[in-house]
Amino acid sequence: MGSVQIVTTVLAAAITAVAVWLAVRAVLKMVAVIRLGQPAPERFADKGTRAKTMLVETAGHTRMLRWGVVGAAHWFVMVGFIVLSLLVLEAYFEVVSPTGGLPLIGGLAVYGLVTEVIAVLGTVGILVLIAIRVRNRPTRPGGRSRFTGSTMWQGYFVEAVVLAVLVMGFVIRGFKVATDHFEYPLWATPVSHALGALLPAWPAGVSVAALIKIAISMTWLIVIALNVTMGVAWHRFLAFFNIFFKREPARPAGSGLGPLRPMTSNGKPLDFEEADPEKDQFGVAQVEQFTWKGLLDFSTCTECGRCQSQCPAWNTGKPLSPKLLVLSLRDHAYAKAPYLLAGGGKDLTGEEKATAAQLAHLDVLTLAEADKPLIGDAEAGGVIDPDVLWSCTTCGACVEQCPVDIEHVDHIVDMRRYQVLIESSFPSEAGVMLRNLENKGNPWGAPQNTREDWTKGLGFEVPRVGEVDDFEYLFWVGCAGAFEDRAKKTTRAVATLLNEAGVSFAILGEGETCSGDPARRIGNEFVFQMLAQQNVETLNEAFEGREPAKRKIVATCPHCFNTLGNEYGQLGGEFEVVHHTQLLAHLVSTGRLTPVQPVDGGVTYHDPCYLGRHNRVFAAPREVLGSAIGGGGGTVGTLTEMPRNSERSFCCGAGGARMWMEEKIGKRINVDRVEEAMSTGARTVAVGCPFCSTMLNDGVNGKGAGEQVEVVDVASVLLRSVKPDTAPGEKETAPTTG
Ligand code: SF4
Ligand code: SF4
Repeated sequence: MGSVQIVTTVLAAAITAVAVWLAVRAVLKMVAVIRLGQPAPERFADKGTRAKTMLVETAGHTRMLRWGVVGAAHWFVMVGFIVLSLLVLEAYFEVVSPTGGLPLIGGLAVYGLVTEVIAVLGTVGILVLIAIRVRNRPTRPGGRSRFTGSTMWQGYFVEAVVLAVLVMGFVIRGFKVATDHFEYPLWATPVSHALGALLPAWPAGVSVAALIKIAISMTWLIVIALNVTMGVAWHRFLAFFNIFFKREPARPAGSGLGPLRPMTSNGKPLDFEEADPEKDQFGVAQVEQFTWKGLLDFSTCTECGRCQSQCPAWNTGKPLSPKLLVLSLRDHAYAKAPYLLAGGGKDLTGEEKATAAQLAHLDVLTLAEADKPLIGDAEAGGVIDPDVLWSCTTCGACVEQCPVDIEHVDHIVDMRRYQVLIESSFPSEAGVMLRNLENKGNPWGAPQNTREDWTKGLGFEVPRVGEVDDFEYLFWVGCAGAFEDRAKKTTRAVATLLNEAGVSFAILGEGETCSGDPARRIGNEFVFQMLAQQNVETLNEAFEGREPAKRKIVATCPHCFNTLGNEYGQLGGEFEVVHHTQLLAHLVSTGRLTPVQPVDGGVTYHDPCYLGRHNRVFAAPREVLGSAIGGGGGTVGTLTEMPRNSERSFCCGAGGARMWMEEKIGKRINVDRVEEAMSTGARTVAVGCPFCSTMLNDGVNGKGAGEQVEVVDVASVLLRSVKPDTAPGEKETAPTTG
């Protein structure tokens, strides 16, 4: 070993020892913070599926690749990071000896080739990612960026380190070529050979370059160890765990979509017949009341801003950004952690758990952080502003896009639950809806004995459960479908089409009450459980004696469809629920309904969030519309898609109980969506949800475009094509609500 190698070896060992010590300390700190969360025992079930999903999602980059160029570039960088860690390891042999290399595989041509190819592609990949970050920098002239609010220096730092490590790999090899110590053939390592031709034959070059490479890598480790909230770096390790522990590992996308998590206390679902607010946790009022998976979510965020770029609230000027919400919760959790780890915290009655002696060593900033209310405006010093919390439509666009499976909607609803159930703090206008649900069983407060009024004048009898022994489908009408004028037309259209196709169905009539969706999404789990239990009892009675596969329900409202199909199972109600567009698509494809009249003027389709993203029903409504546009005879017409469609559809603004709250901040979401729909030039905007129908109709009318554009349900479009004689009467009019 020469004098240069003695110096490089000592320096490499010293910086590595410091970096590893700091990294171990950082990992222990992160584990301690995440363990502060509440239990979530269900996250350990089904480990086989979890492992498979984690491997497919990470190795295949299945979620990242939806953003083609970024996904591909990131894949090469990820593979580069894993494979080229071997080259960092190899550098430790090279600081000791310029001819050093990895034992066993070092020197094999195939190893030289694989690492060379991956290093080249990784370099291209990281340059692409740097270019994308620069192009989308928040400070660029004009326009909002998905990186607004991200800690930009951290992103640039991580990317610069990756680039530098890759380049130094070639430089080391180049010096080996220049000094004739390179064992790989030209065909396997052409870039290294080309660089070697340019470098001087400096014998110490290999060891010095290897030291630089190690120093860069260890500086990175030291920086991230000193910044445990640096998700852009830590996600390389945490993403595997976050994906493994996601809520629904079997779901191909959007693990945190569809059903909401039941309200839990100490890891157990809460039953309101026994729950006690002094003993049980009602929602989340303190950051440590999230589950440990919630705290892992916050730690894993890469600050990529994909969620922010898709969020309807953010895109219309509301203060909510799902990314900024997650970052606020993360920063608060880590800043409050020393207080919690010292034994601090409030019990469920609000009393401090720690003694003064336990907290004596904490600094004033930590104590101030611990004192912050989780929800509170700027004056109260809250972590999350109420306007942020209540701007969410629970559309799920953030969850859908998040590459590391963060479950934003669950966290938002958990915080709403505490605000509603314990603080009674929510937008006051929603109080009328909640009172109506409690007293009348529907959000409009309409009399229950008018639930069947929509059946009048149909020209055929709509059977009620109990009046007929045998029915294939229970037609769940929903509150909008029963009481809201525009939605009633959809209900009538569906009933007419089912009757036309000879489907045997029956309704509950006055036996039906609200599914409970708006109560659950606003955070009132108590009212949800009350309504849901009543409906589960009614439905179980209606289907008594039937095997599960024959307990079939068809619903026109995606919110009812989601609640009945995905959430009633939490309360003992197992049903086979389909949306009316799915049933209609089946009836058309099997020839039981035959469109005969083409639809003129172009049709575009707005995906309802709770049908599309939350339940992945994208094809059925398009098939129905395609057959109606074509007008039969096997001709399938073409929809004019909006730029944001299917998984990336833009919310109408009504979900998450926003239907019953005023939209006072920013641009109206429905107006934004209507402008997009009108930009297609289509005269018909088809919808599959009564709330979307109301919101988009309001948007069209607000723009004074009611004569040019019609918003109408998929079922009504099909009915006009199947029975053109019914068309004039089905023209939509402004709604009146009870
Ligand atoms: S659910 Fe929708 S509105 Fe709510 S934060 Fe996510 S993207 Fe935004
Ligand atoms: S998409 Fe996920 S990882 Fe990216 S900023 Fe949003 S929450 Fe963080």
